Amino acid sequence: MPHVLVIEDDPQVRAALLRALDERGYATSSAGTGLAGLHSAVTDQPDLVVLDLGLPDIDGVELLRMLRSVSAVPVIVVTARDEEAEIVATLDRGADDYLVKPLGAAQLDARIRAVLRRSTSDDPVSAVVVAGLVVDPASREARLDGRLLDLAPKEFDLLRYLSERAGQVVSKRELLAEVWRLPYGGADKTVDVHLSWLRRKLGETAQQPRYLSTVRGVGVRLSAPEES
Ligand code: CA
Repeated sequence: MPHVLVIEDDPQVRAALLRALDERGYATSSAGTGLAGLHSAVTDQPDLVVLDLGLPDIDGVELLRMLRSVSAVPVIVVTARDEEAEIVATLDRGADDYLVKPLGAAQLDARIRAVLRRSTSDDPVSAVVVAGLVVDPASREARLDGRLLDLAPKEFDLLRYLSERAGQVVSKRELLAEVWRLPYGGADKTVDVHLSWLRRKLGETAQQPRYLSTVRGVGVRLSAPEES
């Protein structure tokens, strides 16, 4: 049975979460502060961490950064604050999914199963090669013509998602849902901003694309550059 570590300072919310997880067949442990949670994540080696962002001792986003530097355990972030910027920041720092309070037990269970499925099916996987571009999910490294690209976590995830679908047009809605786990909002610029960063790192522009071409009104496609 998967072991879930719950890091949550509110005793009532924590007890309710542990009860719900226990009823659904998970092994559980818990911590009431960020530091205790970090310690437990390292020593207990849980299969997944449910992390409340509003903790008394450390900011949840900072805790996530510390956790990521010592562990690759999947993390579902829980926030009372339905703020897109904060959610994007935690996903950028390596959270696998997020939930906004109040939590429904069935939804939490579904998200946990989805994250565990992804984290186990992701491994091991082989690198994707598109012309001079090599994207290796195992090492989370991407190279262009042999040169290691300096990518932020979400830039890598975006590049990986597109390279695994090389030649296909992928919509921004799909990217937002699959790479960021966010619902589509018409004014959302998250995907555009990350695409432009990624283009810069690949040494190309929207006007002069090589690997990443925008299909107006549809989405974006990664494909081998045409010989010029
Ligand atoms: Ca809290």
